[in-house]
Amino acid sequence: MLSIYKVILIGVIYTAASLHAVAEDSKETLLSANKTVNLDAAKVGEAAVVAPAVDLKDIAPAPVVNPEPLAPKVKKDDGKKIQEPPTEATEDKKEKSPAPIALEEKLIILGSAVTPGTATRLAWSPNVGISGLNLPTPVLVINGKHRGQTLCLTAAIHGDELNGIEIVRRVMYDIDPKKLHGKIIGVPIVNLQGFQRASRYLPDRRDLNRFFPGDPEGSSASRIAHSLFTEVIQHCDLLIDLHTGSFRRTNLPQLRANMLDARVIKFSEGFDDIAVVHSEGNPGMLRVASLEAGIVAVTLEVGESLRLQESEVKAGVKSINALLEREDMYSRLFTWGDPEPAYYQSHWVRASHGGILLSRIELGDHVDKGDILGVITDPITNEVAKLRASHDGRIIGMAVNQVVMPGFAAYHIGIRASEETLVSEEKMEEAKANANKSKRSNSIEEIDPE
Ligand SMILES: [Zn+2]
Repeated sequence: MLSIYKVILIGVIYTAASLHAVAEDSKETLLSANKTVNLDAAKVGEAAVVAPAVDLKDIAPAPVVNPEPLAPKVKKDDGKKIQEPPTEATEDKKEKSPAPIALEEKLIILGSAVTPGTATRLAWSPNVGISGLNLPTPVLVINGKHRGQTLCLTAAIHGDELNGIEIVRRVMYDIDPKKLHGKIIGVPIVNLQGFQRASRYLPDRRDLNRFFPGDPEGSSASRIAHSLFTEVIQHCDLLIDLHTGSFRRTNLPQLRANMLDARVIKFSEGFDDIAVVHSEGNPGMLRVASLEAGIVAVTLEVGESLRLQESEVKAGVKSINALLEREDMYSRLFTWGDPEPAYYQSHWVRASHGGILLSRIELGDHVDKGDILGVITDPITNEVAKLRASHDGRIIGMAVNQVVMPGFAAYHIGIRASEETLVSEEKMEEAKANANKSKRSNSIEEIDPE
């Protein structure tokens, strides 16, 4: 019985994924009662089906390429409701006749209606490839039983950044939709093609995180960005975009946040005792485009690319769980540690020589100006160069041991600052930078791009 349901579920999921229904346009049709949704109607975007309620902890059915579309089960005895798909939620079975839920409380996304108090797996496809070979990208959706904000979690926009994928899984699979206030939408692997090739980039070597909010008539990357932005991101009130250090660097768990925006400052305060590095970001970044669209967005940087790091993953999960508590979305009755995040300005220490870099310090260490951070040895001449701390501060990012060339940005030193200093000093920096644009080349985005 269970497996039959699963087949039906797959059918429903893929039907939903093939839709182009824009929530607002289709809402009226959707919400108009006594309409029985059928596949043909769904195909032309006239309506959405109710997403199957799944326990996200259940093992997901394996992806099926071009599945046979199966008609969703229709409740013939009740023409006044959208048909409900089979549900495995045992709690629902206990309720003999659940009170009808106001349709406007359903989350209409990706052509599906997600009922309050349920979770589901949907699929997003940017439709930029060969349509027969389209690879649906999984989107996890939890519509909380109680009203509240919508938080989005995106990971692996850079396909080689793995820690965030695991963070999204752990956060979302630990949520009981019945206790959630608001909604959580998670896209664990945005750049599925990059992920499969262990590459940061899209197949055309473009960096997806430079193309938001995208353009439906633009390049392939721009179309993908536009599709994700319109179909998923525009549902969010809050966004956390998960990344790791890039190009063989590792990052202490840290937020990259635009501290010139009061909403972002308030949002960043919810992440427990995390490091917050002020950064306005570069045009085309998801968090920048989101903020411009009124979505409060930050980047959460955790660890190193191409690795899964248990302690960094745990730190990321803890920060997001703290945030859910502080935003009144999900309570675990847990006592959090130091509620104050630590704000930083930052400076990079660059390699003075080429050679083999071996570090003497670890990520997160506190250092004093002049301390030896690492040693670069020329493998042929045996010449040794010491890299020293330029400031008193904390190592918030660093290169892993490797061969470096002169000029390589090796250590990112965070210098503690108050929110106010950070912003006022940034404004001064900005004024200077505008006067001398070359100064911009030292921004963290270009050295360790999100
Ligand atoms: Zn990244």
